[in-house]
Amino acid sequence: KANRKFHPDDTVVEVGGVKIGGKGNFAVMAGPCSVESEEQCMIIAEQVKKHGAAIFRGGAFKPRTSPYSFQGLGKEGLDILSKVKREFDMPIITEIMDARDLDLFDDVDILQVGARNMQNFSLLKELGRYGKPVLLKRGMSATIDELLMSAEYIMSEGNDQVMLCERGIRTFETRTRNTFDVSAIPVLRELTHLPIIADPSHATGYTRFVTPVACAATAAQADGLEVEVHHDPAHAASDGAQALLPEQFEDMMRRVGIIRSAV
Ligand code: PEP
Ligand code: MN
Repeated sequence: KANRKFHPDDTVVEVGGVKIGGKGNFAVMAGPCSVESEEQCMIIAEQVKKHGAAIFRGGAFKPRTSPYSFQGLGKEGLDILSKVKREFDMPIITEIMDARDLDLFDDVDILQVGARNMQNFSLLKELGRYGKPVLLKRGMSATIDELLMSAEYIMSEGNDQVMLCERGIRTFETRTRNTFDVSAIPVLRELTHLPIIADPSHATGYTRFVTPVACAATAAQADGLEVEVHHDPAHAASDGAQALLPEQFEDMMRRVGIIRSAV
């Protein structure tokens, strides 16, 4: 179902008037790694919206490596995201880790499946039945074909609103958190009609590398970006080292805009 051979036309996912995928559409999803407080989200949402983000991101259920790290605000975090959605008229995207929480996601526009859950097939099938748009992130050691087969798990249950996200893969390189596979973008473009999003934040792990990789993804004709932004990265509950300050996000958007108009 994800195969372009049988479905030549690009899939366009539309959430709250924002189009993702298809010629001429480009959407940026931005916000903090974790929802920390209402005040934090309101500050960041105002900034990212002002600089051109169409969709607000923020994690309420966080897939942390250590069970002793901050795990997210859960339902309280989702309630904060709902307030942001109303206040700034922005669709919201957040990660779902467990299908048993689905009842809490009524107001969420795009459900994110994190890299660690890319092959959680029961979760994928459940999201296939749920029917809302899904952003499926590439597993850290997953091949492109495995990513596409995970998309099939969602689509085979009747949900064709699937977007794919390249967020870097594990290699021997240690200077970056992951290795951004820029070639995945043209390869996926050839193989599938689904929208392709790039996440330069988790791909690199360091603020100073985020904008160059966002530019590379844009030049490779990704359909959009998912980027972490924080107004006070030093005190972020998670991933502060890769967060862009609002003014750095503005600069990234300016550069990405120039590249978009050139390709
Ligand atoms: C995230 O986007 O919040 C996240 C945890 O990313 P990933 O699943 O790509 O590690
Ligand atoms: Mn993060």
